[in-house]
Amino acid sequence: MRLLFSALAALLLSQPVLAAPELRLQPGSELPQGQQMRISLNPDGATGPFKATVAGKTIELFEKDGAYVAYLALPSDQKPGGYTLNILDAEGKSAVSQKIEVKPVARSSQNIRFYSPNLTPAQKKQLDAEEALVDIARSSRTEEQYWTEPFMLPVPQRISAVYGIRRFLNGKYNGYHGGVDFLTPMGFPIKATNAGRVTLARYFAPYNSNGNLVFLDHGHGITSVYLHLSKILVKEGQIVKKGEPVGLCGSTGRSTGPHLHWGLYVNGQNTDGLGWVKFSQSF
Ligand SMILES: [Zn+2]
Repeated sequence: MRLLFSALAALLLSQPVLAAPELRLQPGSELPQGQQMRISLNPDGATGPFKATVAGKTIELFEKDGAYVAYLALPSDQKPGGYTLNILDAEGKSAVSQKIEVKPVARSSQNIRFYSPNLTPAQKKQLDAEEALVDIARSSRTEEQYWTEPFMLPVPQRISAVYGIRRFLNGKYNGYHGGVDFLTPMGFPIKATNAGRVTLARYFAPYNSNGNLVFLDHGHGITSVYLHLSKILVKEGQIVKKGEPVGLCGSTGRSTGPHLHWGLYVNGQNTDGLGWVKFSQSF
């Protein structure tokens, strides 16, 4: 009998250990609407590059110190409930998966009165070209992680509209607010929320609702934007430090007075910047 046990143990021990990648979610498997999650994977023999799929999104993981990381944000109006987060290996096979839970967050509403000018075909073309640049800048994904410290707010807090607030334009639903609005005086310096590369620094057409803007790419799929500027202080391609002024507060574009609209994006998805600043202190 004892001999049999030893033989069995020897057999079990000689079996090759199957690769079992280890998935870690921060702060956990619950994702409140509009907030973020950090996905890290210890490949343990499985072969990358890896992709994460969840709620119809596909996100590539970045290699970092032998592990793989990605950040996840879903829209503010993502339907609450359970979703499967699946990690796919280089061959597209599922390496590991886990259930995540999107938790509902109550949002208030806001009505804005604003009348858009009638545009000529040439103006419409110009606007489309500007919007295309914004789309590219929003979704920048750079292997290099420019930041080494937590993110910071671009101006001192005095918030006039939080992220996710339901916006009505002249009484008609116009989607949720994709950034954070700060009541900031005209000409006040706007600081880079973290280190990054300037991907867009443009004086847009006066009928562009964004106004003059600066877009930063912080690496690893994180980008930020600063809208309605009166003056731009950086150039495209420039590397900025955390806290470096990128522009001066203004009221250009669709704006009813001097303010900063600050947008934070995770893999092209707008997300709550206030939540991100807090969250970034944990990794
Ligand atoms: Zn805004």
